[in-house]
Amino acid sequence: MRYVIIGASAAGINGAENLRRLDKESEIVLISEDDKVYSRCILHHYISSKRNVEELNFVDPDFFEKNKINWIKGKKVVSLSDEKKEITLSNGEIVKFDKVLIASGSSPFIPPIENLRGKKNVVGLKSLSDCEKIMELAKTSKNILVIGAGLIGIDAVVGLLHFKNNDLKINLVEMSDRLLPLQLDKRASIAYEKKLQENKVELILNSKVLKANLSEEDSDKIKSILLEGDIEIQTDLIVVATGIRPNVDFLKDSNIEVDKLGLVLNEKGETNIKDIYGAGDVSGRGPIWSKAVKESIIATSNMAGVQRVMDDFFVCKSTMNFFNIPTLSLGNMNECLNNAELKVDILEDDNGNYKKIMHKNGYIYGAIIQGDLSYSGILTQLIKADIDISKVKKPIFSIDYSDFFRIKKDLEFEF
Ligand SMILES: Cc1cc2nc3c(=O)[nH]c(=O)nc-3n(C[C@H](O)[C@H](O)[C@H](O)COP(=O)(O)OP(=O)(O)OC[C@H]3O[C@@H](n4cnc5c(N)ncnc54)[C@H](O)[C@@H]3O)c2cc1C
Repeated sequence: MRYVIIGASAAGINGAENLRRLDKESEIVLISEDDKVYSRCILHHYISSKRNVEELNFVDPDFFEKNKINWIKGKKVVSLSDEKKEITLSNGEIVKFDKVLIASGSSPFIPPIENLRGKKNVVGLKSLSDCEKIMELAKTSKNILVIGAGLIGIDAVVGLLHFKNNDLKINLVEMSDRLLPLQLDKRASIAYEKKLQENKVELILNSKVLKANLSEEDSDKIKSILLEGDIEIQTDLIVVATGIRPNVDFLKDSNIEVDKLGLVLNEKGETNIKDIYGAGDVSGRGPIWSKAVKESIIATSNMAGVQRVMDDFFVCKSTMNFFNIPTLSLGNMNECLNNAELKVDILEDDNGNYKKIMHKNGYIYGAIIQGDLSYSGILTQLIKADIDISKVKKPIFSIDYSDFFRIKKDLEFEF
């Protein structure tokens, strides 16, 4: 049996490790465009030079050797034939497979704004090479504009603060009324807005980018960005963090189903074609690290003949710790805040601790905890154990573990 895995990130690496754990003998080949293993979640530490490439690595130095994985690195998959069960690489090499895991993730989406795409001072943030480009351009920039204040946009700003010593000006533009609109409400956003302002980052909320103006000397370069309200921002570097798109181009001549979000998978991680599986950002649904890892373990277990399905997973779950303010967010905040049917419980104090739960018929649709995160364990258990919070007799934020654990017959605690 030859397993092939496409991708060397959260899904690919964890999937490969799980396959080897379950199947000691079969051949495992991992192919990736990346020639290094690194965590995307801490790329801002690379931009700020707090970590080097080795410190972004999340596997042991002997990972591939120890797990007997043949890593074809720095090679791009250009097509996959489900009928011939073979993959073609950019150098023309053909790799045959019996079963394949597609864990090719996603790439930054550059919106179709006039003059923005393909210009040399426009960068997305997804890979080490993106970081290197950002770092190189930031060295000589006087003005930088980050478009999009989601997790990746804020990561970019936090990384770029390191360059502030050369009187660099950083602008952050966001079309919503707050930072991290998928994760936070305005109250939680303000905590980070204040920190950005303290660090002299110019925040432009409720504003859309209309067009990019090109430099007179070099038409491949942008000199300024025009925002709604006739606001023009001079800029030497534009970091675009306006979403991602799945890496599925190499599937276009196959029979594998891809919809408008990405690769279509069932709860076992199977595609519509036998022996072809997928996991992670490539599905375009809930692009977070922990979900990519979990999906890869489910998919590769099924590849190895161990039946498993995705269960009890709260798709939109993010934790962040910008400026040492920890926050946990559950659910899609944009949807929750626009749902008038949800009941809201809030607890806050003057020390920056904030808790908010949005629920309906006892089911939690969304929650934010900022500051003291000790309640997040209880919250996770409330969700996991399917506790109907409408039946809880005391104030929701006073619940502790003793309220809902019981002792099983074998005297083990169960929540
Ligand atoms: C700056 C940043 C910060 C983030 N912060 C967080 C965070 O704090 N918390 C969180 O949960 N998530 C965070 N994420 C999201 C998280 O990193 C992703 O959800 C996760 O990396 C998805 O893993 P993946 O394996 O599905 O795909 P990816 O990480 O996208 O990796 C895809 C892999 O496939 C390879 N590949 C792609 N196309 C091809 C091809 N054609 N041929 C061969 N190889 C190919 C790539 O080289 C790569 O190895 C962040 C992402 C970014 C960019």
